[in-house]
Amino acid sequence: MSGLDIDPLAGVSPKETPMKFSPDQTEMPPDLHALLALQRDDVRRHGAPSYAQRIAALDALSNMVKQHRHELVRTISADFGNRAATETELSELMSVRNGIKHVRTHLKSWMRPQRRKVGIAFRPASAQIVYQPLGVIGILAPWNYPLTLTLGPLTEALAAGNRVMIKPSELTPRTSALLGKLIGETFPVEQVTVVTGGPDLAEAFCTLPFDHLLFTGSTHVGRQVMIAAARNLTPVTLELGGKSPVVLCRDYPLRKAARIIAIGKFFNAGQTCVAPDYVLVPRDLTETFADALFDAARELYPTIAGNDDYTSIISDRHYRRLAGMIDEAESTGAKIRQIADVHAAAERKIPPAILTGVVADATIMRDEIFGPLVPVVGYDSLDDAINFINNRPKPLALYCFSHRCAVIADLLERTRSGGVTVNGTMLHAAQEDLPFGGVGESGTGAYHGYDGFVRMSHSRGVLRVNRFNMFDRVAAPYGKLSRLVTRIMLGK
Ligand code: NAD
Repeated sequence: MSGLDIDPLAGVSPKETPMKFSPDQTEMPPDLHALLALQRDDVRRHGAPSYAQRIAALDALSNMVKQHRHELVRTISADFGNRAATETELSELMSVRNGIKHVRTHLKSWMRPQRRKVGIAFRPASAQIVYQPLGVIGILAPWNYPLTLTLGPLTEALAAGNRVMIKPSELTPRTSALLGKLIGETFPVEQVTVVTGGPDLAEAFCTLPFDHLLFTGSTHVGRQVMIAAARNLTPVTLELGGKSPVVLCRDYPLRKAARIIAIGKFFNAGQTCVAPDYVLVPRDLTETFADALFDAARELYPTIAGNDDYTSIISDRHYRRLAGMIDEAESTGAKIRQIADVHAAAERKIPPAILTGVVADATIMRDEIFGPLVPVVGYDSLDDAINFINNRPKPLALYCFSHRCAVIADLLERTRSGGVTVNGTMLHAAQEDLPFGGVGESGTGAYHGYDGFVRMSHSRGVLRVNRFNMFDRVAAPYGKLSRLVTRIMLGK
């Protein structure tokens, strides 16, 4: 039994009940078109901000997060029911701070025009790329990392000199409201603004003719976002999800891998886009590995209810979805190892669950899990494991545990994923100097650091023709000189 056949909120004392958040009923939906017009007008009147203005904006953002860090940690936790404070500090405050620091260090060189080569036939001339702001960028964010996934893209959008409209998730209403207030106090509305609301507002947001729309969320909604943006020919970056596999190879110490995977998987209770989704293990080691993973989970989280280090599931709907996955797997013959805690449901917490013997068409093997459940799947050969991955949509992340270079090279060569961490989980996403994004169904386009700056800039090619050039000589009526120049250029 999964131990989850309990009404998640039954028997909850008033103190434990996650606060119900009632947004101000008198609040009017924001006039999105008016806000966009205001920002566009500011672009027209003031043009691209200077380096100094961009640095000032980044500093203001950094100070905002620093000054309000305690309030942000508390507010995010209230939205989740419980979000481990250290998890918020590591994955949101540190991530935003590191992002700003990295951009601040490199912005001057990124903004410099980049020299490019001029074809021999066109010399003398000079060619360069000039990075210009795109204009107004829309950022549409999910709930699982409500600061990182709004302020991270904002950092790079500001670095690239853009104006920005942000629509955070309705599932973290307190954090979204706080973000709106803080951004409103930090930036003029014509530079950065936050609009809050539900899916209807989100849908309307996507119909705005932004100069770029960066959406982070599910693949399902991502499709609708791309359709809406296409009507305006608005370019999109889609940061989506998917089932990120782990391949454990026989040569890697099994218990060590189990601990590393448990740390990554149960962080934020598995509600991370790059969380390991399922683990592929040499078939004869399946049960041994499942035991080791279970032990590792128990070591990390000896108790669940009342344990502030273990994060709650974001909503009752998400809780029921995950509980349903476990029940369905169990009813179709899966073996489930789960830390028993009858009080966990009252805090909307699902104890880590390790599943073996899951049937291939179970929901847990078809849908992105996005919670603390780990199916362990046996494979017979590396080819098998690779085929298993390649028979499914390209994932956002791929993890492999091995010290054998040939095995790692084979796996990386024959699979595709947004990013990879070898002998670890999720860490590639924390590297400021690596592009972060998906491929195929896990996303389109990447950002973070330099790649984010370029993504949110227009790379304008500029050719400066020298005072002396042959091209005004190669012109009709084509005579001897034109033919001679053409012959030289064709290398005849
Ligand atoms: P979601 O797609 O339900 O919602 C994301 C945003 O889209 C929200 O702001 C929501 O208001 C808005 N939205 C809802 N319906 C919409 C519509 N019809 N049109 C336009 N916008 C709409 O995603 P979620 O549940 O908030 O987040 C979980 C998903 O996000 C997972 O799939 C996860 O993998 C993915 N994710 C990806 C990344 C990444 O960087 N690749 C990061 C975090 C989460």
